[in-house]
Amino acid sequence: MSRSAVRLDRQKPQVKEWLPTLKRLASYLGRRKGLLFLVVLMVAASAALGLLGPYLVGMAIDDFIITKDKHGLVLLLVWLGVVYIFYSLTVFLQNYWMAGVAQKTVYEMRIELFAHLHQLPLSFFDKRRHGELMSRVTNDIENISSTLNSSVIQVASSVLTLTGAIAVMLYLSPILTAVALIIVPLLYIGMNWITSRTRRLFKEQQCHLGELNGFIEEAVSSKHIVKMFSREEQIAAAFNERNAKLKEAGFWAQTYSGFIPKLMHMLNNLSFALIAGVGGLLAVKGLVTVGVIVVFAEYSRQFTRPLNDLANQFNTLLSAVAGAERVFAILDTEKEEQEQEHALPFDEVRGNIEFCGVSFSYEKGEKTINHVSFKAKQGDIIALVGPTGSGKSTLVNLLARFYEPDGGAILVDGQDVSKISRQELRKHMGFVLQESFLFSGTIKENIRYGRLEATDEEVIAAARLANAHLFITKLPDGYDTKLQHEGTGISQGQRQLIAIARAILADPVILILDEATSSIDTITETYIQEALDRLMKDRTSVVIAHRLNTIQRADQILVLEKGEIIERGTHEQLMEKDGHYAQLIAASQS
Ligand code: ADP
Repeated sequence: MSRSAVRLDRQKPQVKEWLPTLKRLASYLGRRKGLLFLVVLMVAASAALGLLGPYLVGMAIDDFIITKDKHGLVLLLVWLGVVYIFYSLTVFLQNYWMAGVAQKTVYEMRIELFAHLHQLPLSFFDKRRHGELMSRVTNDIENISSTLNSSVIQVASSVLTLTGAIAVMLYLSPILTAVALIIVPLLYIGMNWITSRTRRLFKEQQCHLGELNGFIEEAVSSKHIVKMFSREEQIAAAFNERNAKLKEAGFWAQTYSGFIPKLMHMLNNLSFALIAGVGGLLAVKGLVTVGVIVVFAEYSRQFTRPLNDLANQFNTLLSAVAGAERVFAILDTEKEEQEQEHALPFDEVRGNIEFCGVSFSYEKGEKTINHVSFKAKQGDIIALVGPTGSGKSTLVNLLARFYEPDGGAILVDGQDVSKISRQELRKHMGFVLQESFLFSGTIKENIRYGRLEATDEEVIAAARLANAHLFITKLPDGYDTKLQHEGTGISQGQRQLIAIARAILADPVILILDEATSSIDTITETYIQEALDRLMKDRTSVVIAHRLNTIQRADQILVLEKGEIIERGTHEQLMEKDGHYAQLIAASQS
């Protein structure tokens, strides 16, 4: 895909505002209300117990240490121990239940996202790098998961602790409370200043990370080409450029976010000094006790810690929200146009094909296919010829409804294909493409992909007809030979033979064939030709033709140029005409 698409993504980020995204994330959490309630309950309990601890220490000073009441002091220490044991228990339970909520939530998100990806139109994938998409399914979701785990608890606990602390402080001494709260506006201003920067920087960092992932994926999958053309240096330079961008964005994001705890720490100390100073003065005047000053000093720490946590969480939350926005952007991308509600049944297909004035463009304004009309009768061979980029593959993509025409109609047996469900339609079509799609699995599994319920005998019979049986049996594990990723490990010609066997097994009425252009050794070539002849027999075949023998036998040859049919007829008719086709043939033979 082109780089411009990545740029497009960045120029017009699907990022709206972060509040709606947070709300949407919350709606996912809302599906587990029961567990969440338990989490909140535990968070409230731990916040209360966390505040009770220092309060008891203050009491110990005023009521037992100053009055030298040993017995009371021991009893209070026992109580303090009990409080902290229960505190630990509530903290454990809140984490335990929250982990359950977070994992179940992202588990569902992954299912939703993966299912959605399969329903998106191909045009969506044309515009995005695979690495970028993979990054969304894995990294972004993982990010959401870890943030949910930590942030929800932290945020709830911080809010509750803050409210609780303020309430107790007000009860103990309104004047000291006012002193302790002086730093809040300072905190607010400082936090706002930093987070407004970090949010942008984190988003930039995520964006560069996605781009780098995409680039690496592309570089790895095109390693053959890179080596063939000795483009190692160029690709390293291009990589360095992206890597440097990520470094830059990461550097500033980290710098700013790293600054937050330091700022908090400084304000914390400032607040402590203020409380100690003003508290001391008040104590001298007899307005507060020493115990109250200790409680305040401790609370002011407890008080800035939640604020501190909130600020820290803000960063993690922002990077997760940036991730969630990207995930939701995919979920919001429209699925492949929904099937018409009552898709017509499509049985007993004979294979008559008709294109009536079909027009199509991938990008608005650029017509890729322009008013194409032709008819193919049951059993015909239609050969599509023309220069690269003339629209041959696009025509077959339209026939299989990988894309929908902008104008005109495509009929199969007189039925408009847009009224037939895609699955029904494709059930009757077989594909043998240049780049045969083989997946990692055994040869047998790859052939059986054509018809999942086929028996082993049927698989072998199809392989025999496809002239593939001989080479398969010569492989060390025969039909159980495992193919590596995308079928590497066997030759291109052999891959084609397997693809043909698969198509034979599927026994489609309409065959779509993209003949291989690359030269295959003559023996395999003959095998392929023979296999294809068997495959095409009694089927309507639409062939992107490169082989002369296919073209000569074709019932109709369509010569395409810039998305239009410029000549049509049989080989003999077109040769006699001595037009574009004759020139193409002459050029291919010279
Ligand atoms: P052919 O099969 O004859 O080589 P194609 O049908 O592949 O031609 O392409 C026709 C035109 O459409 C070309 O200009 C090509 O660049 C463009 N095109 C093909 N696929 C896409 C796509 N997925 N997105 C945008 N443009 C495309």
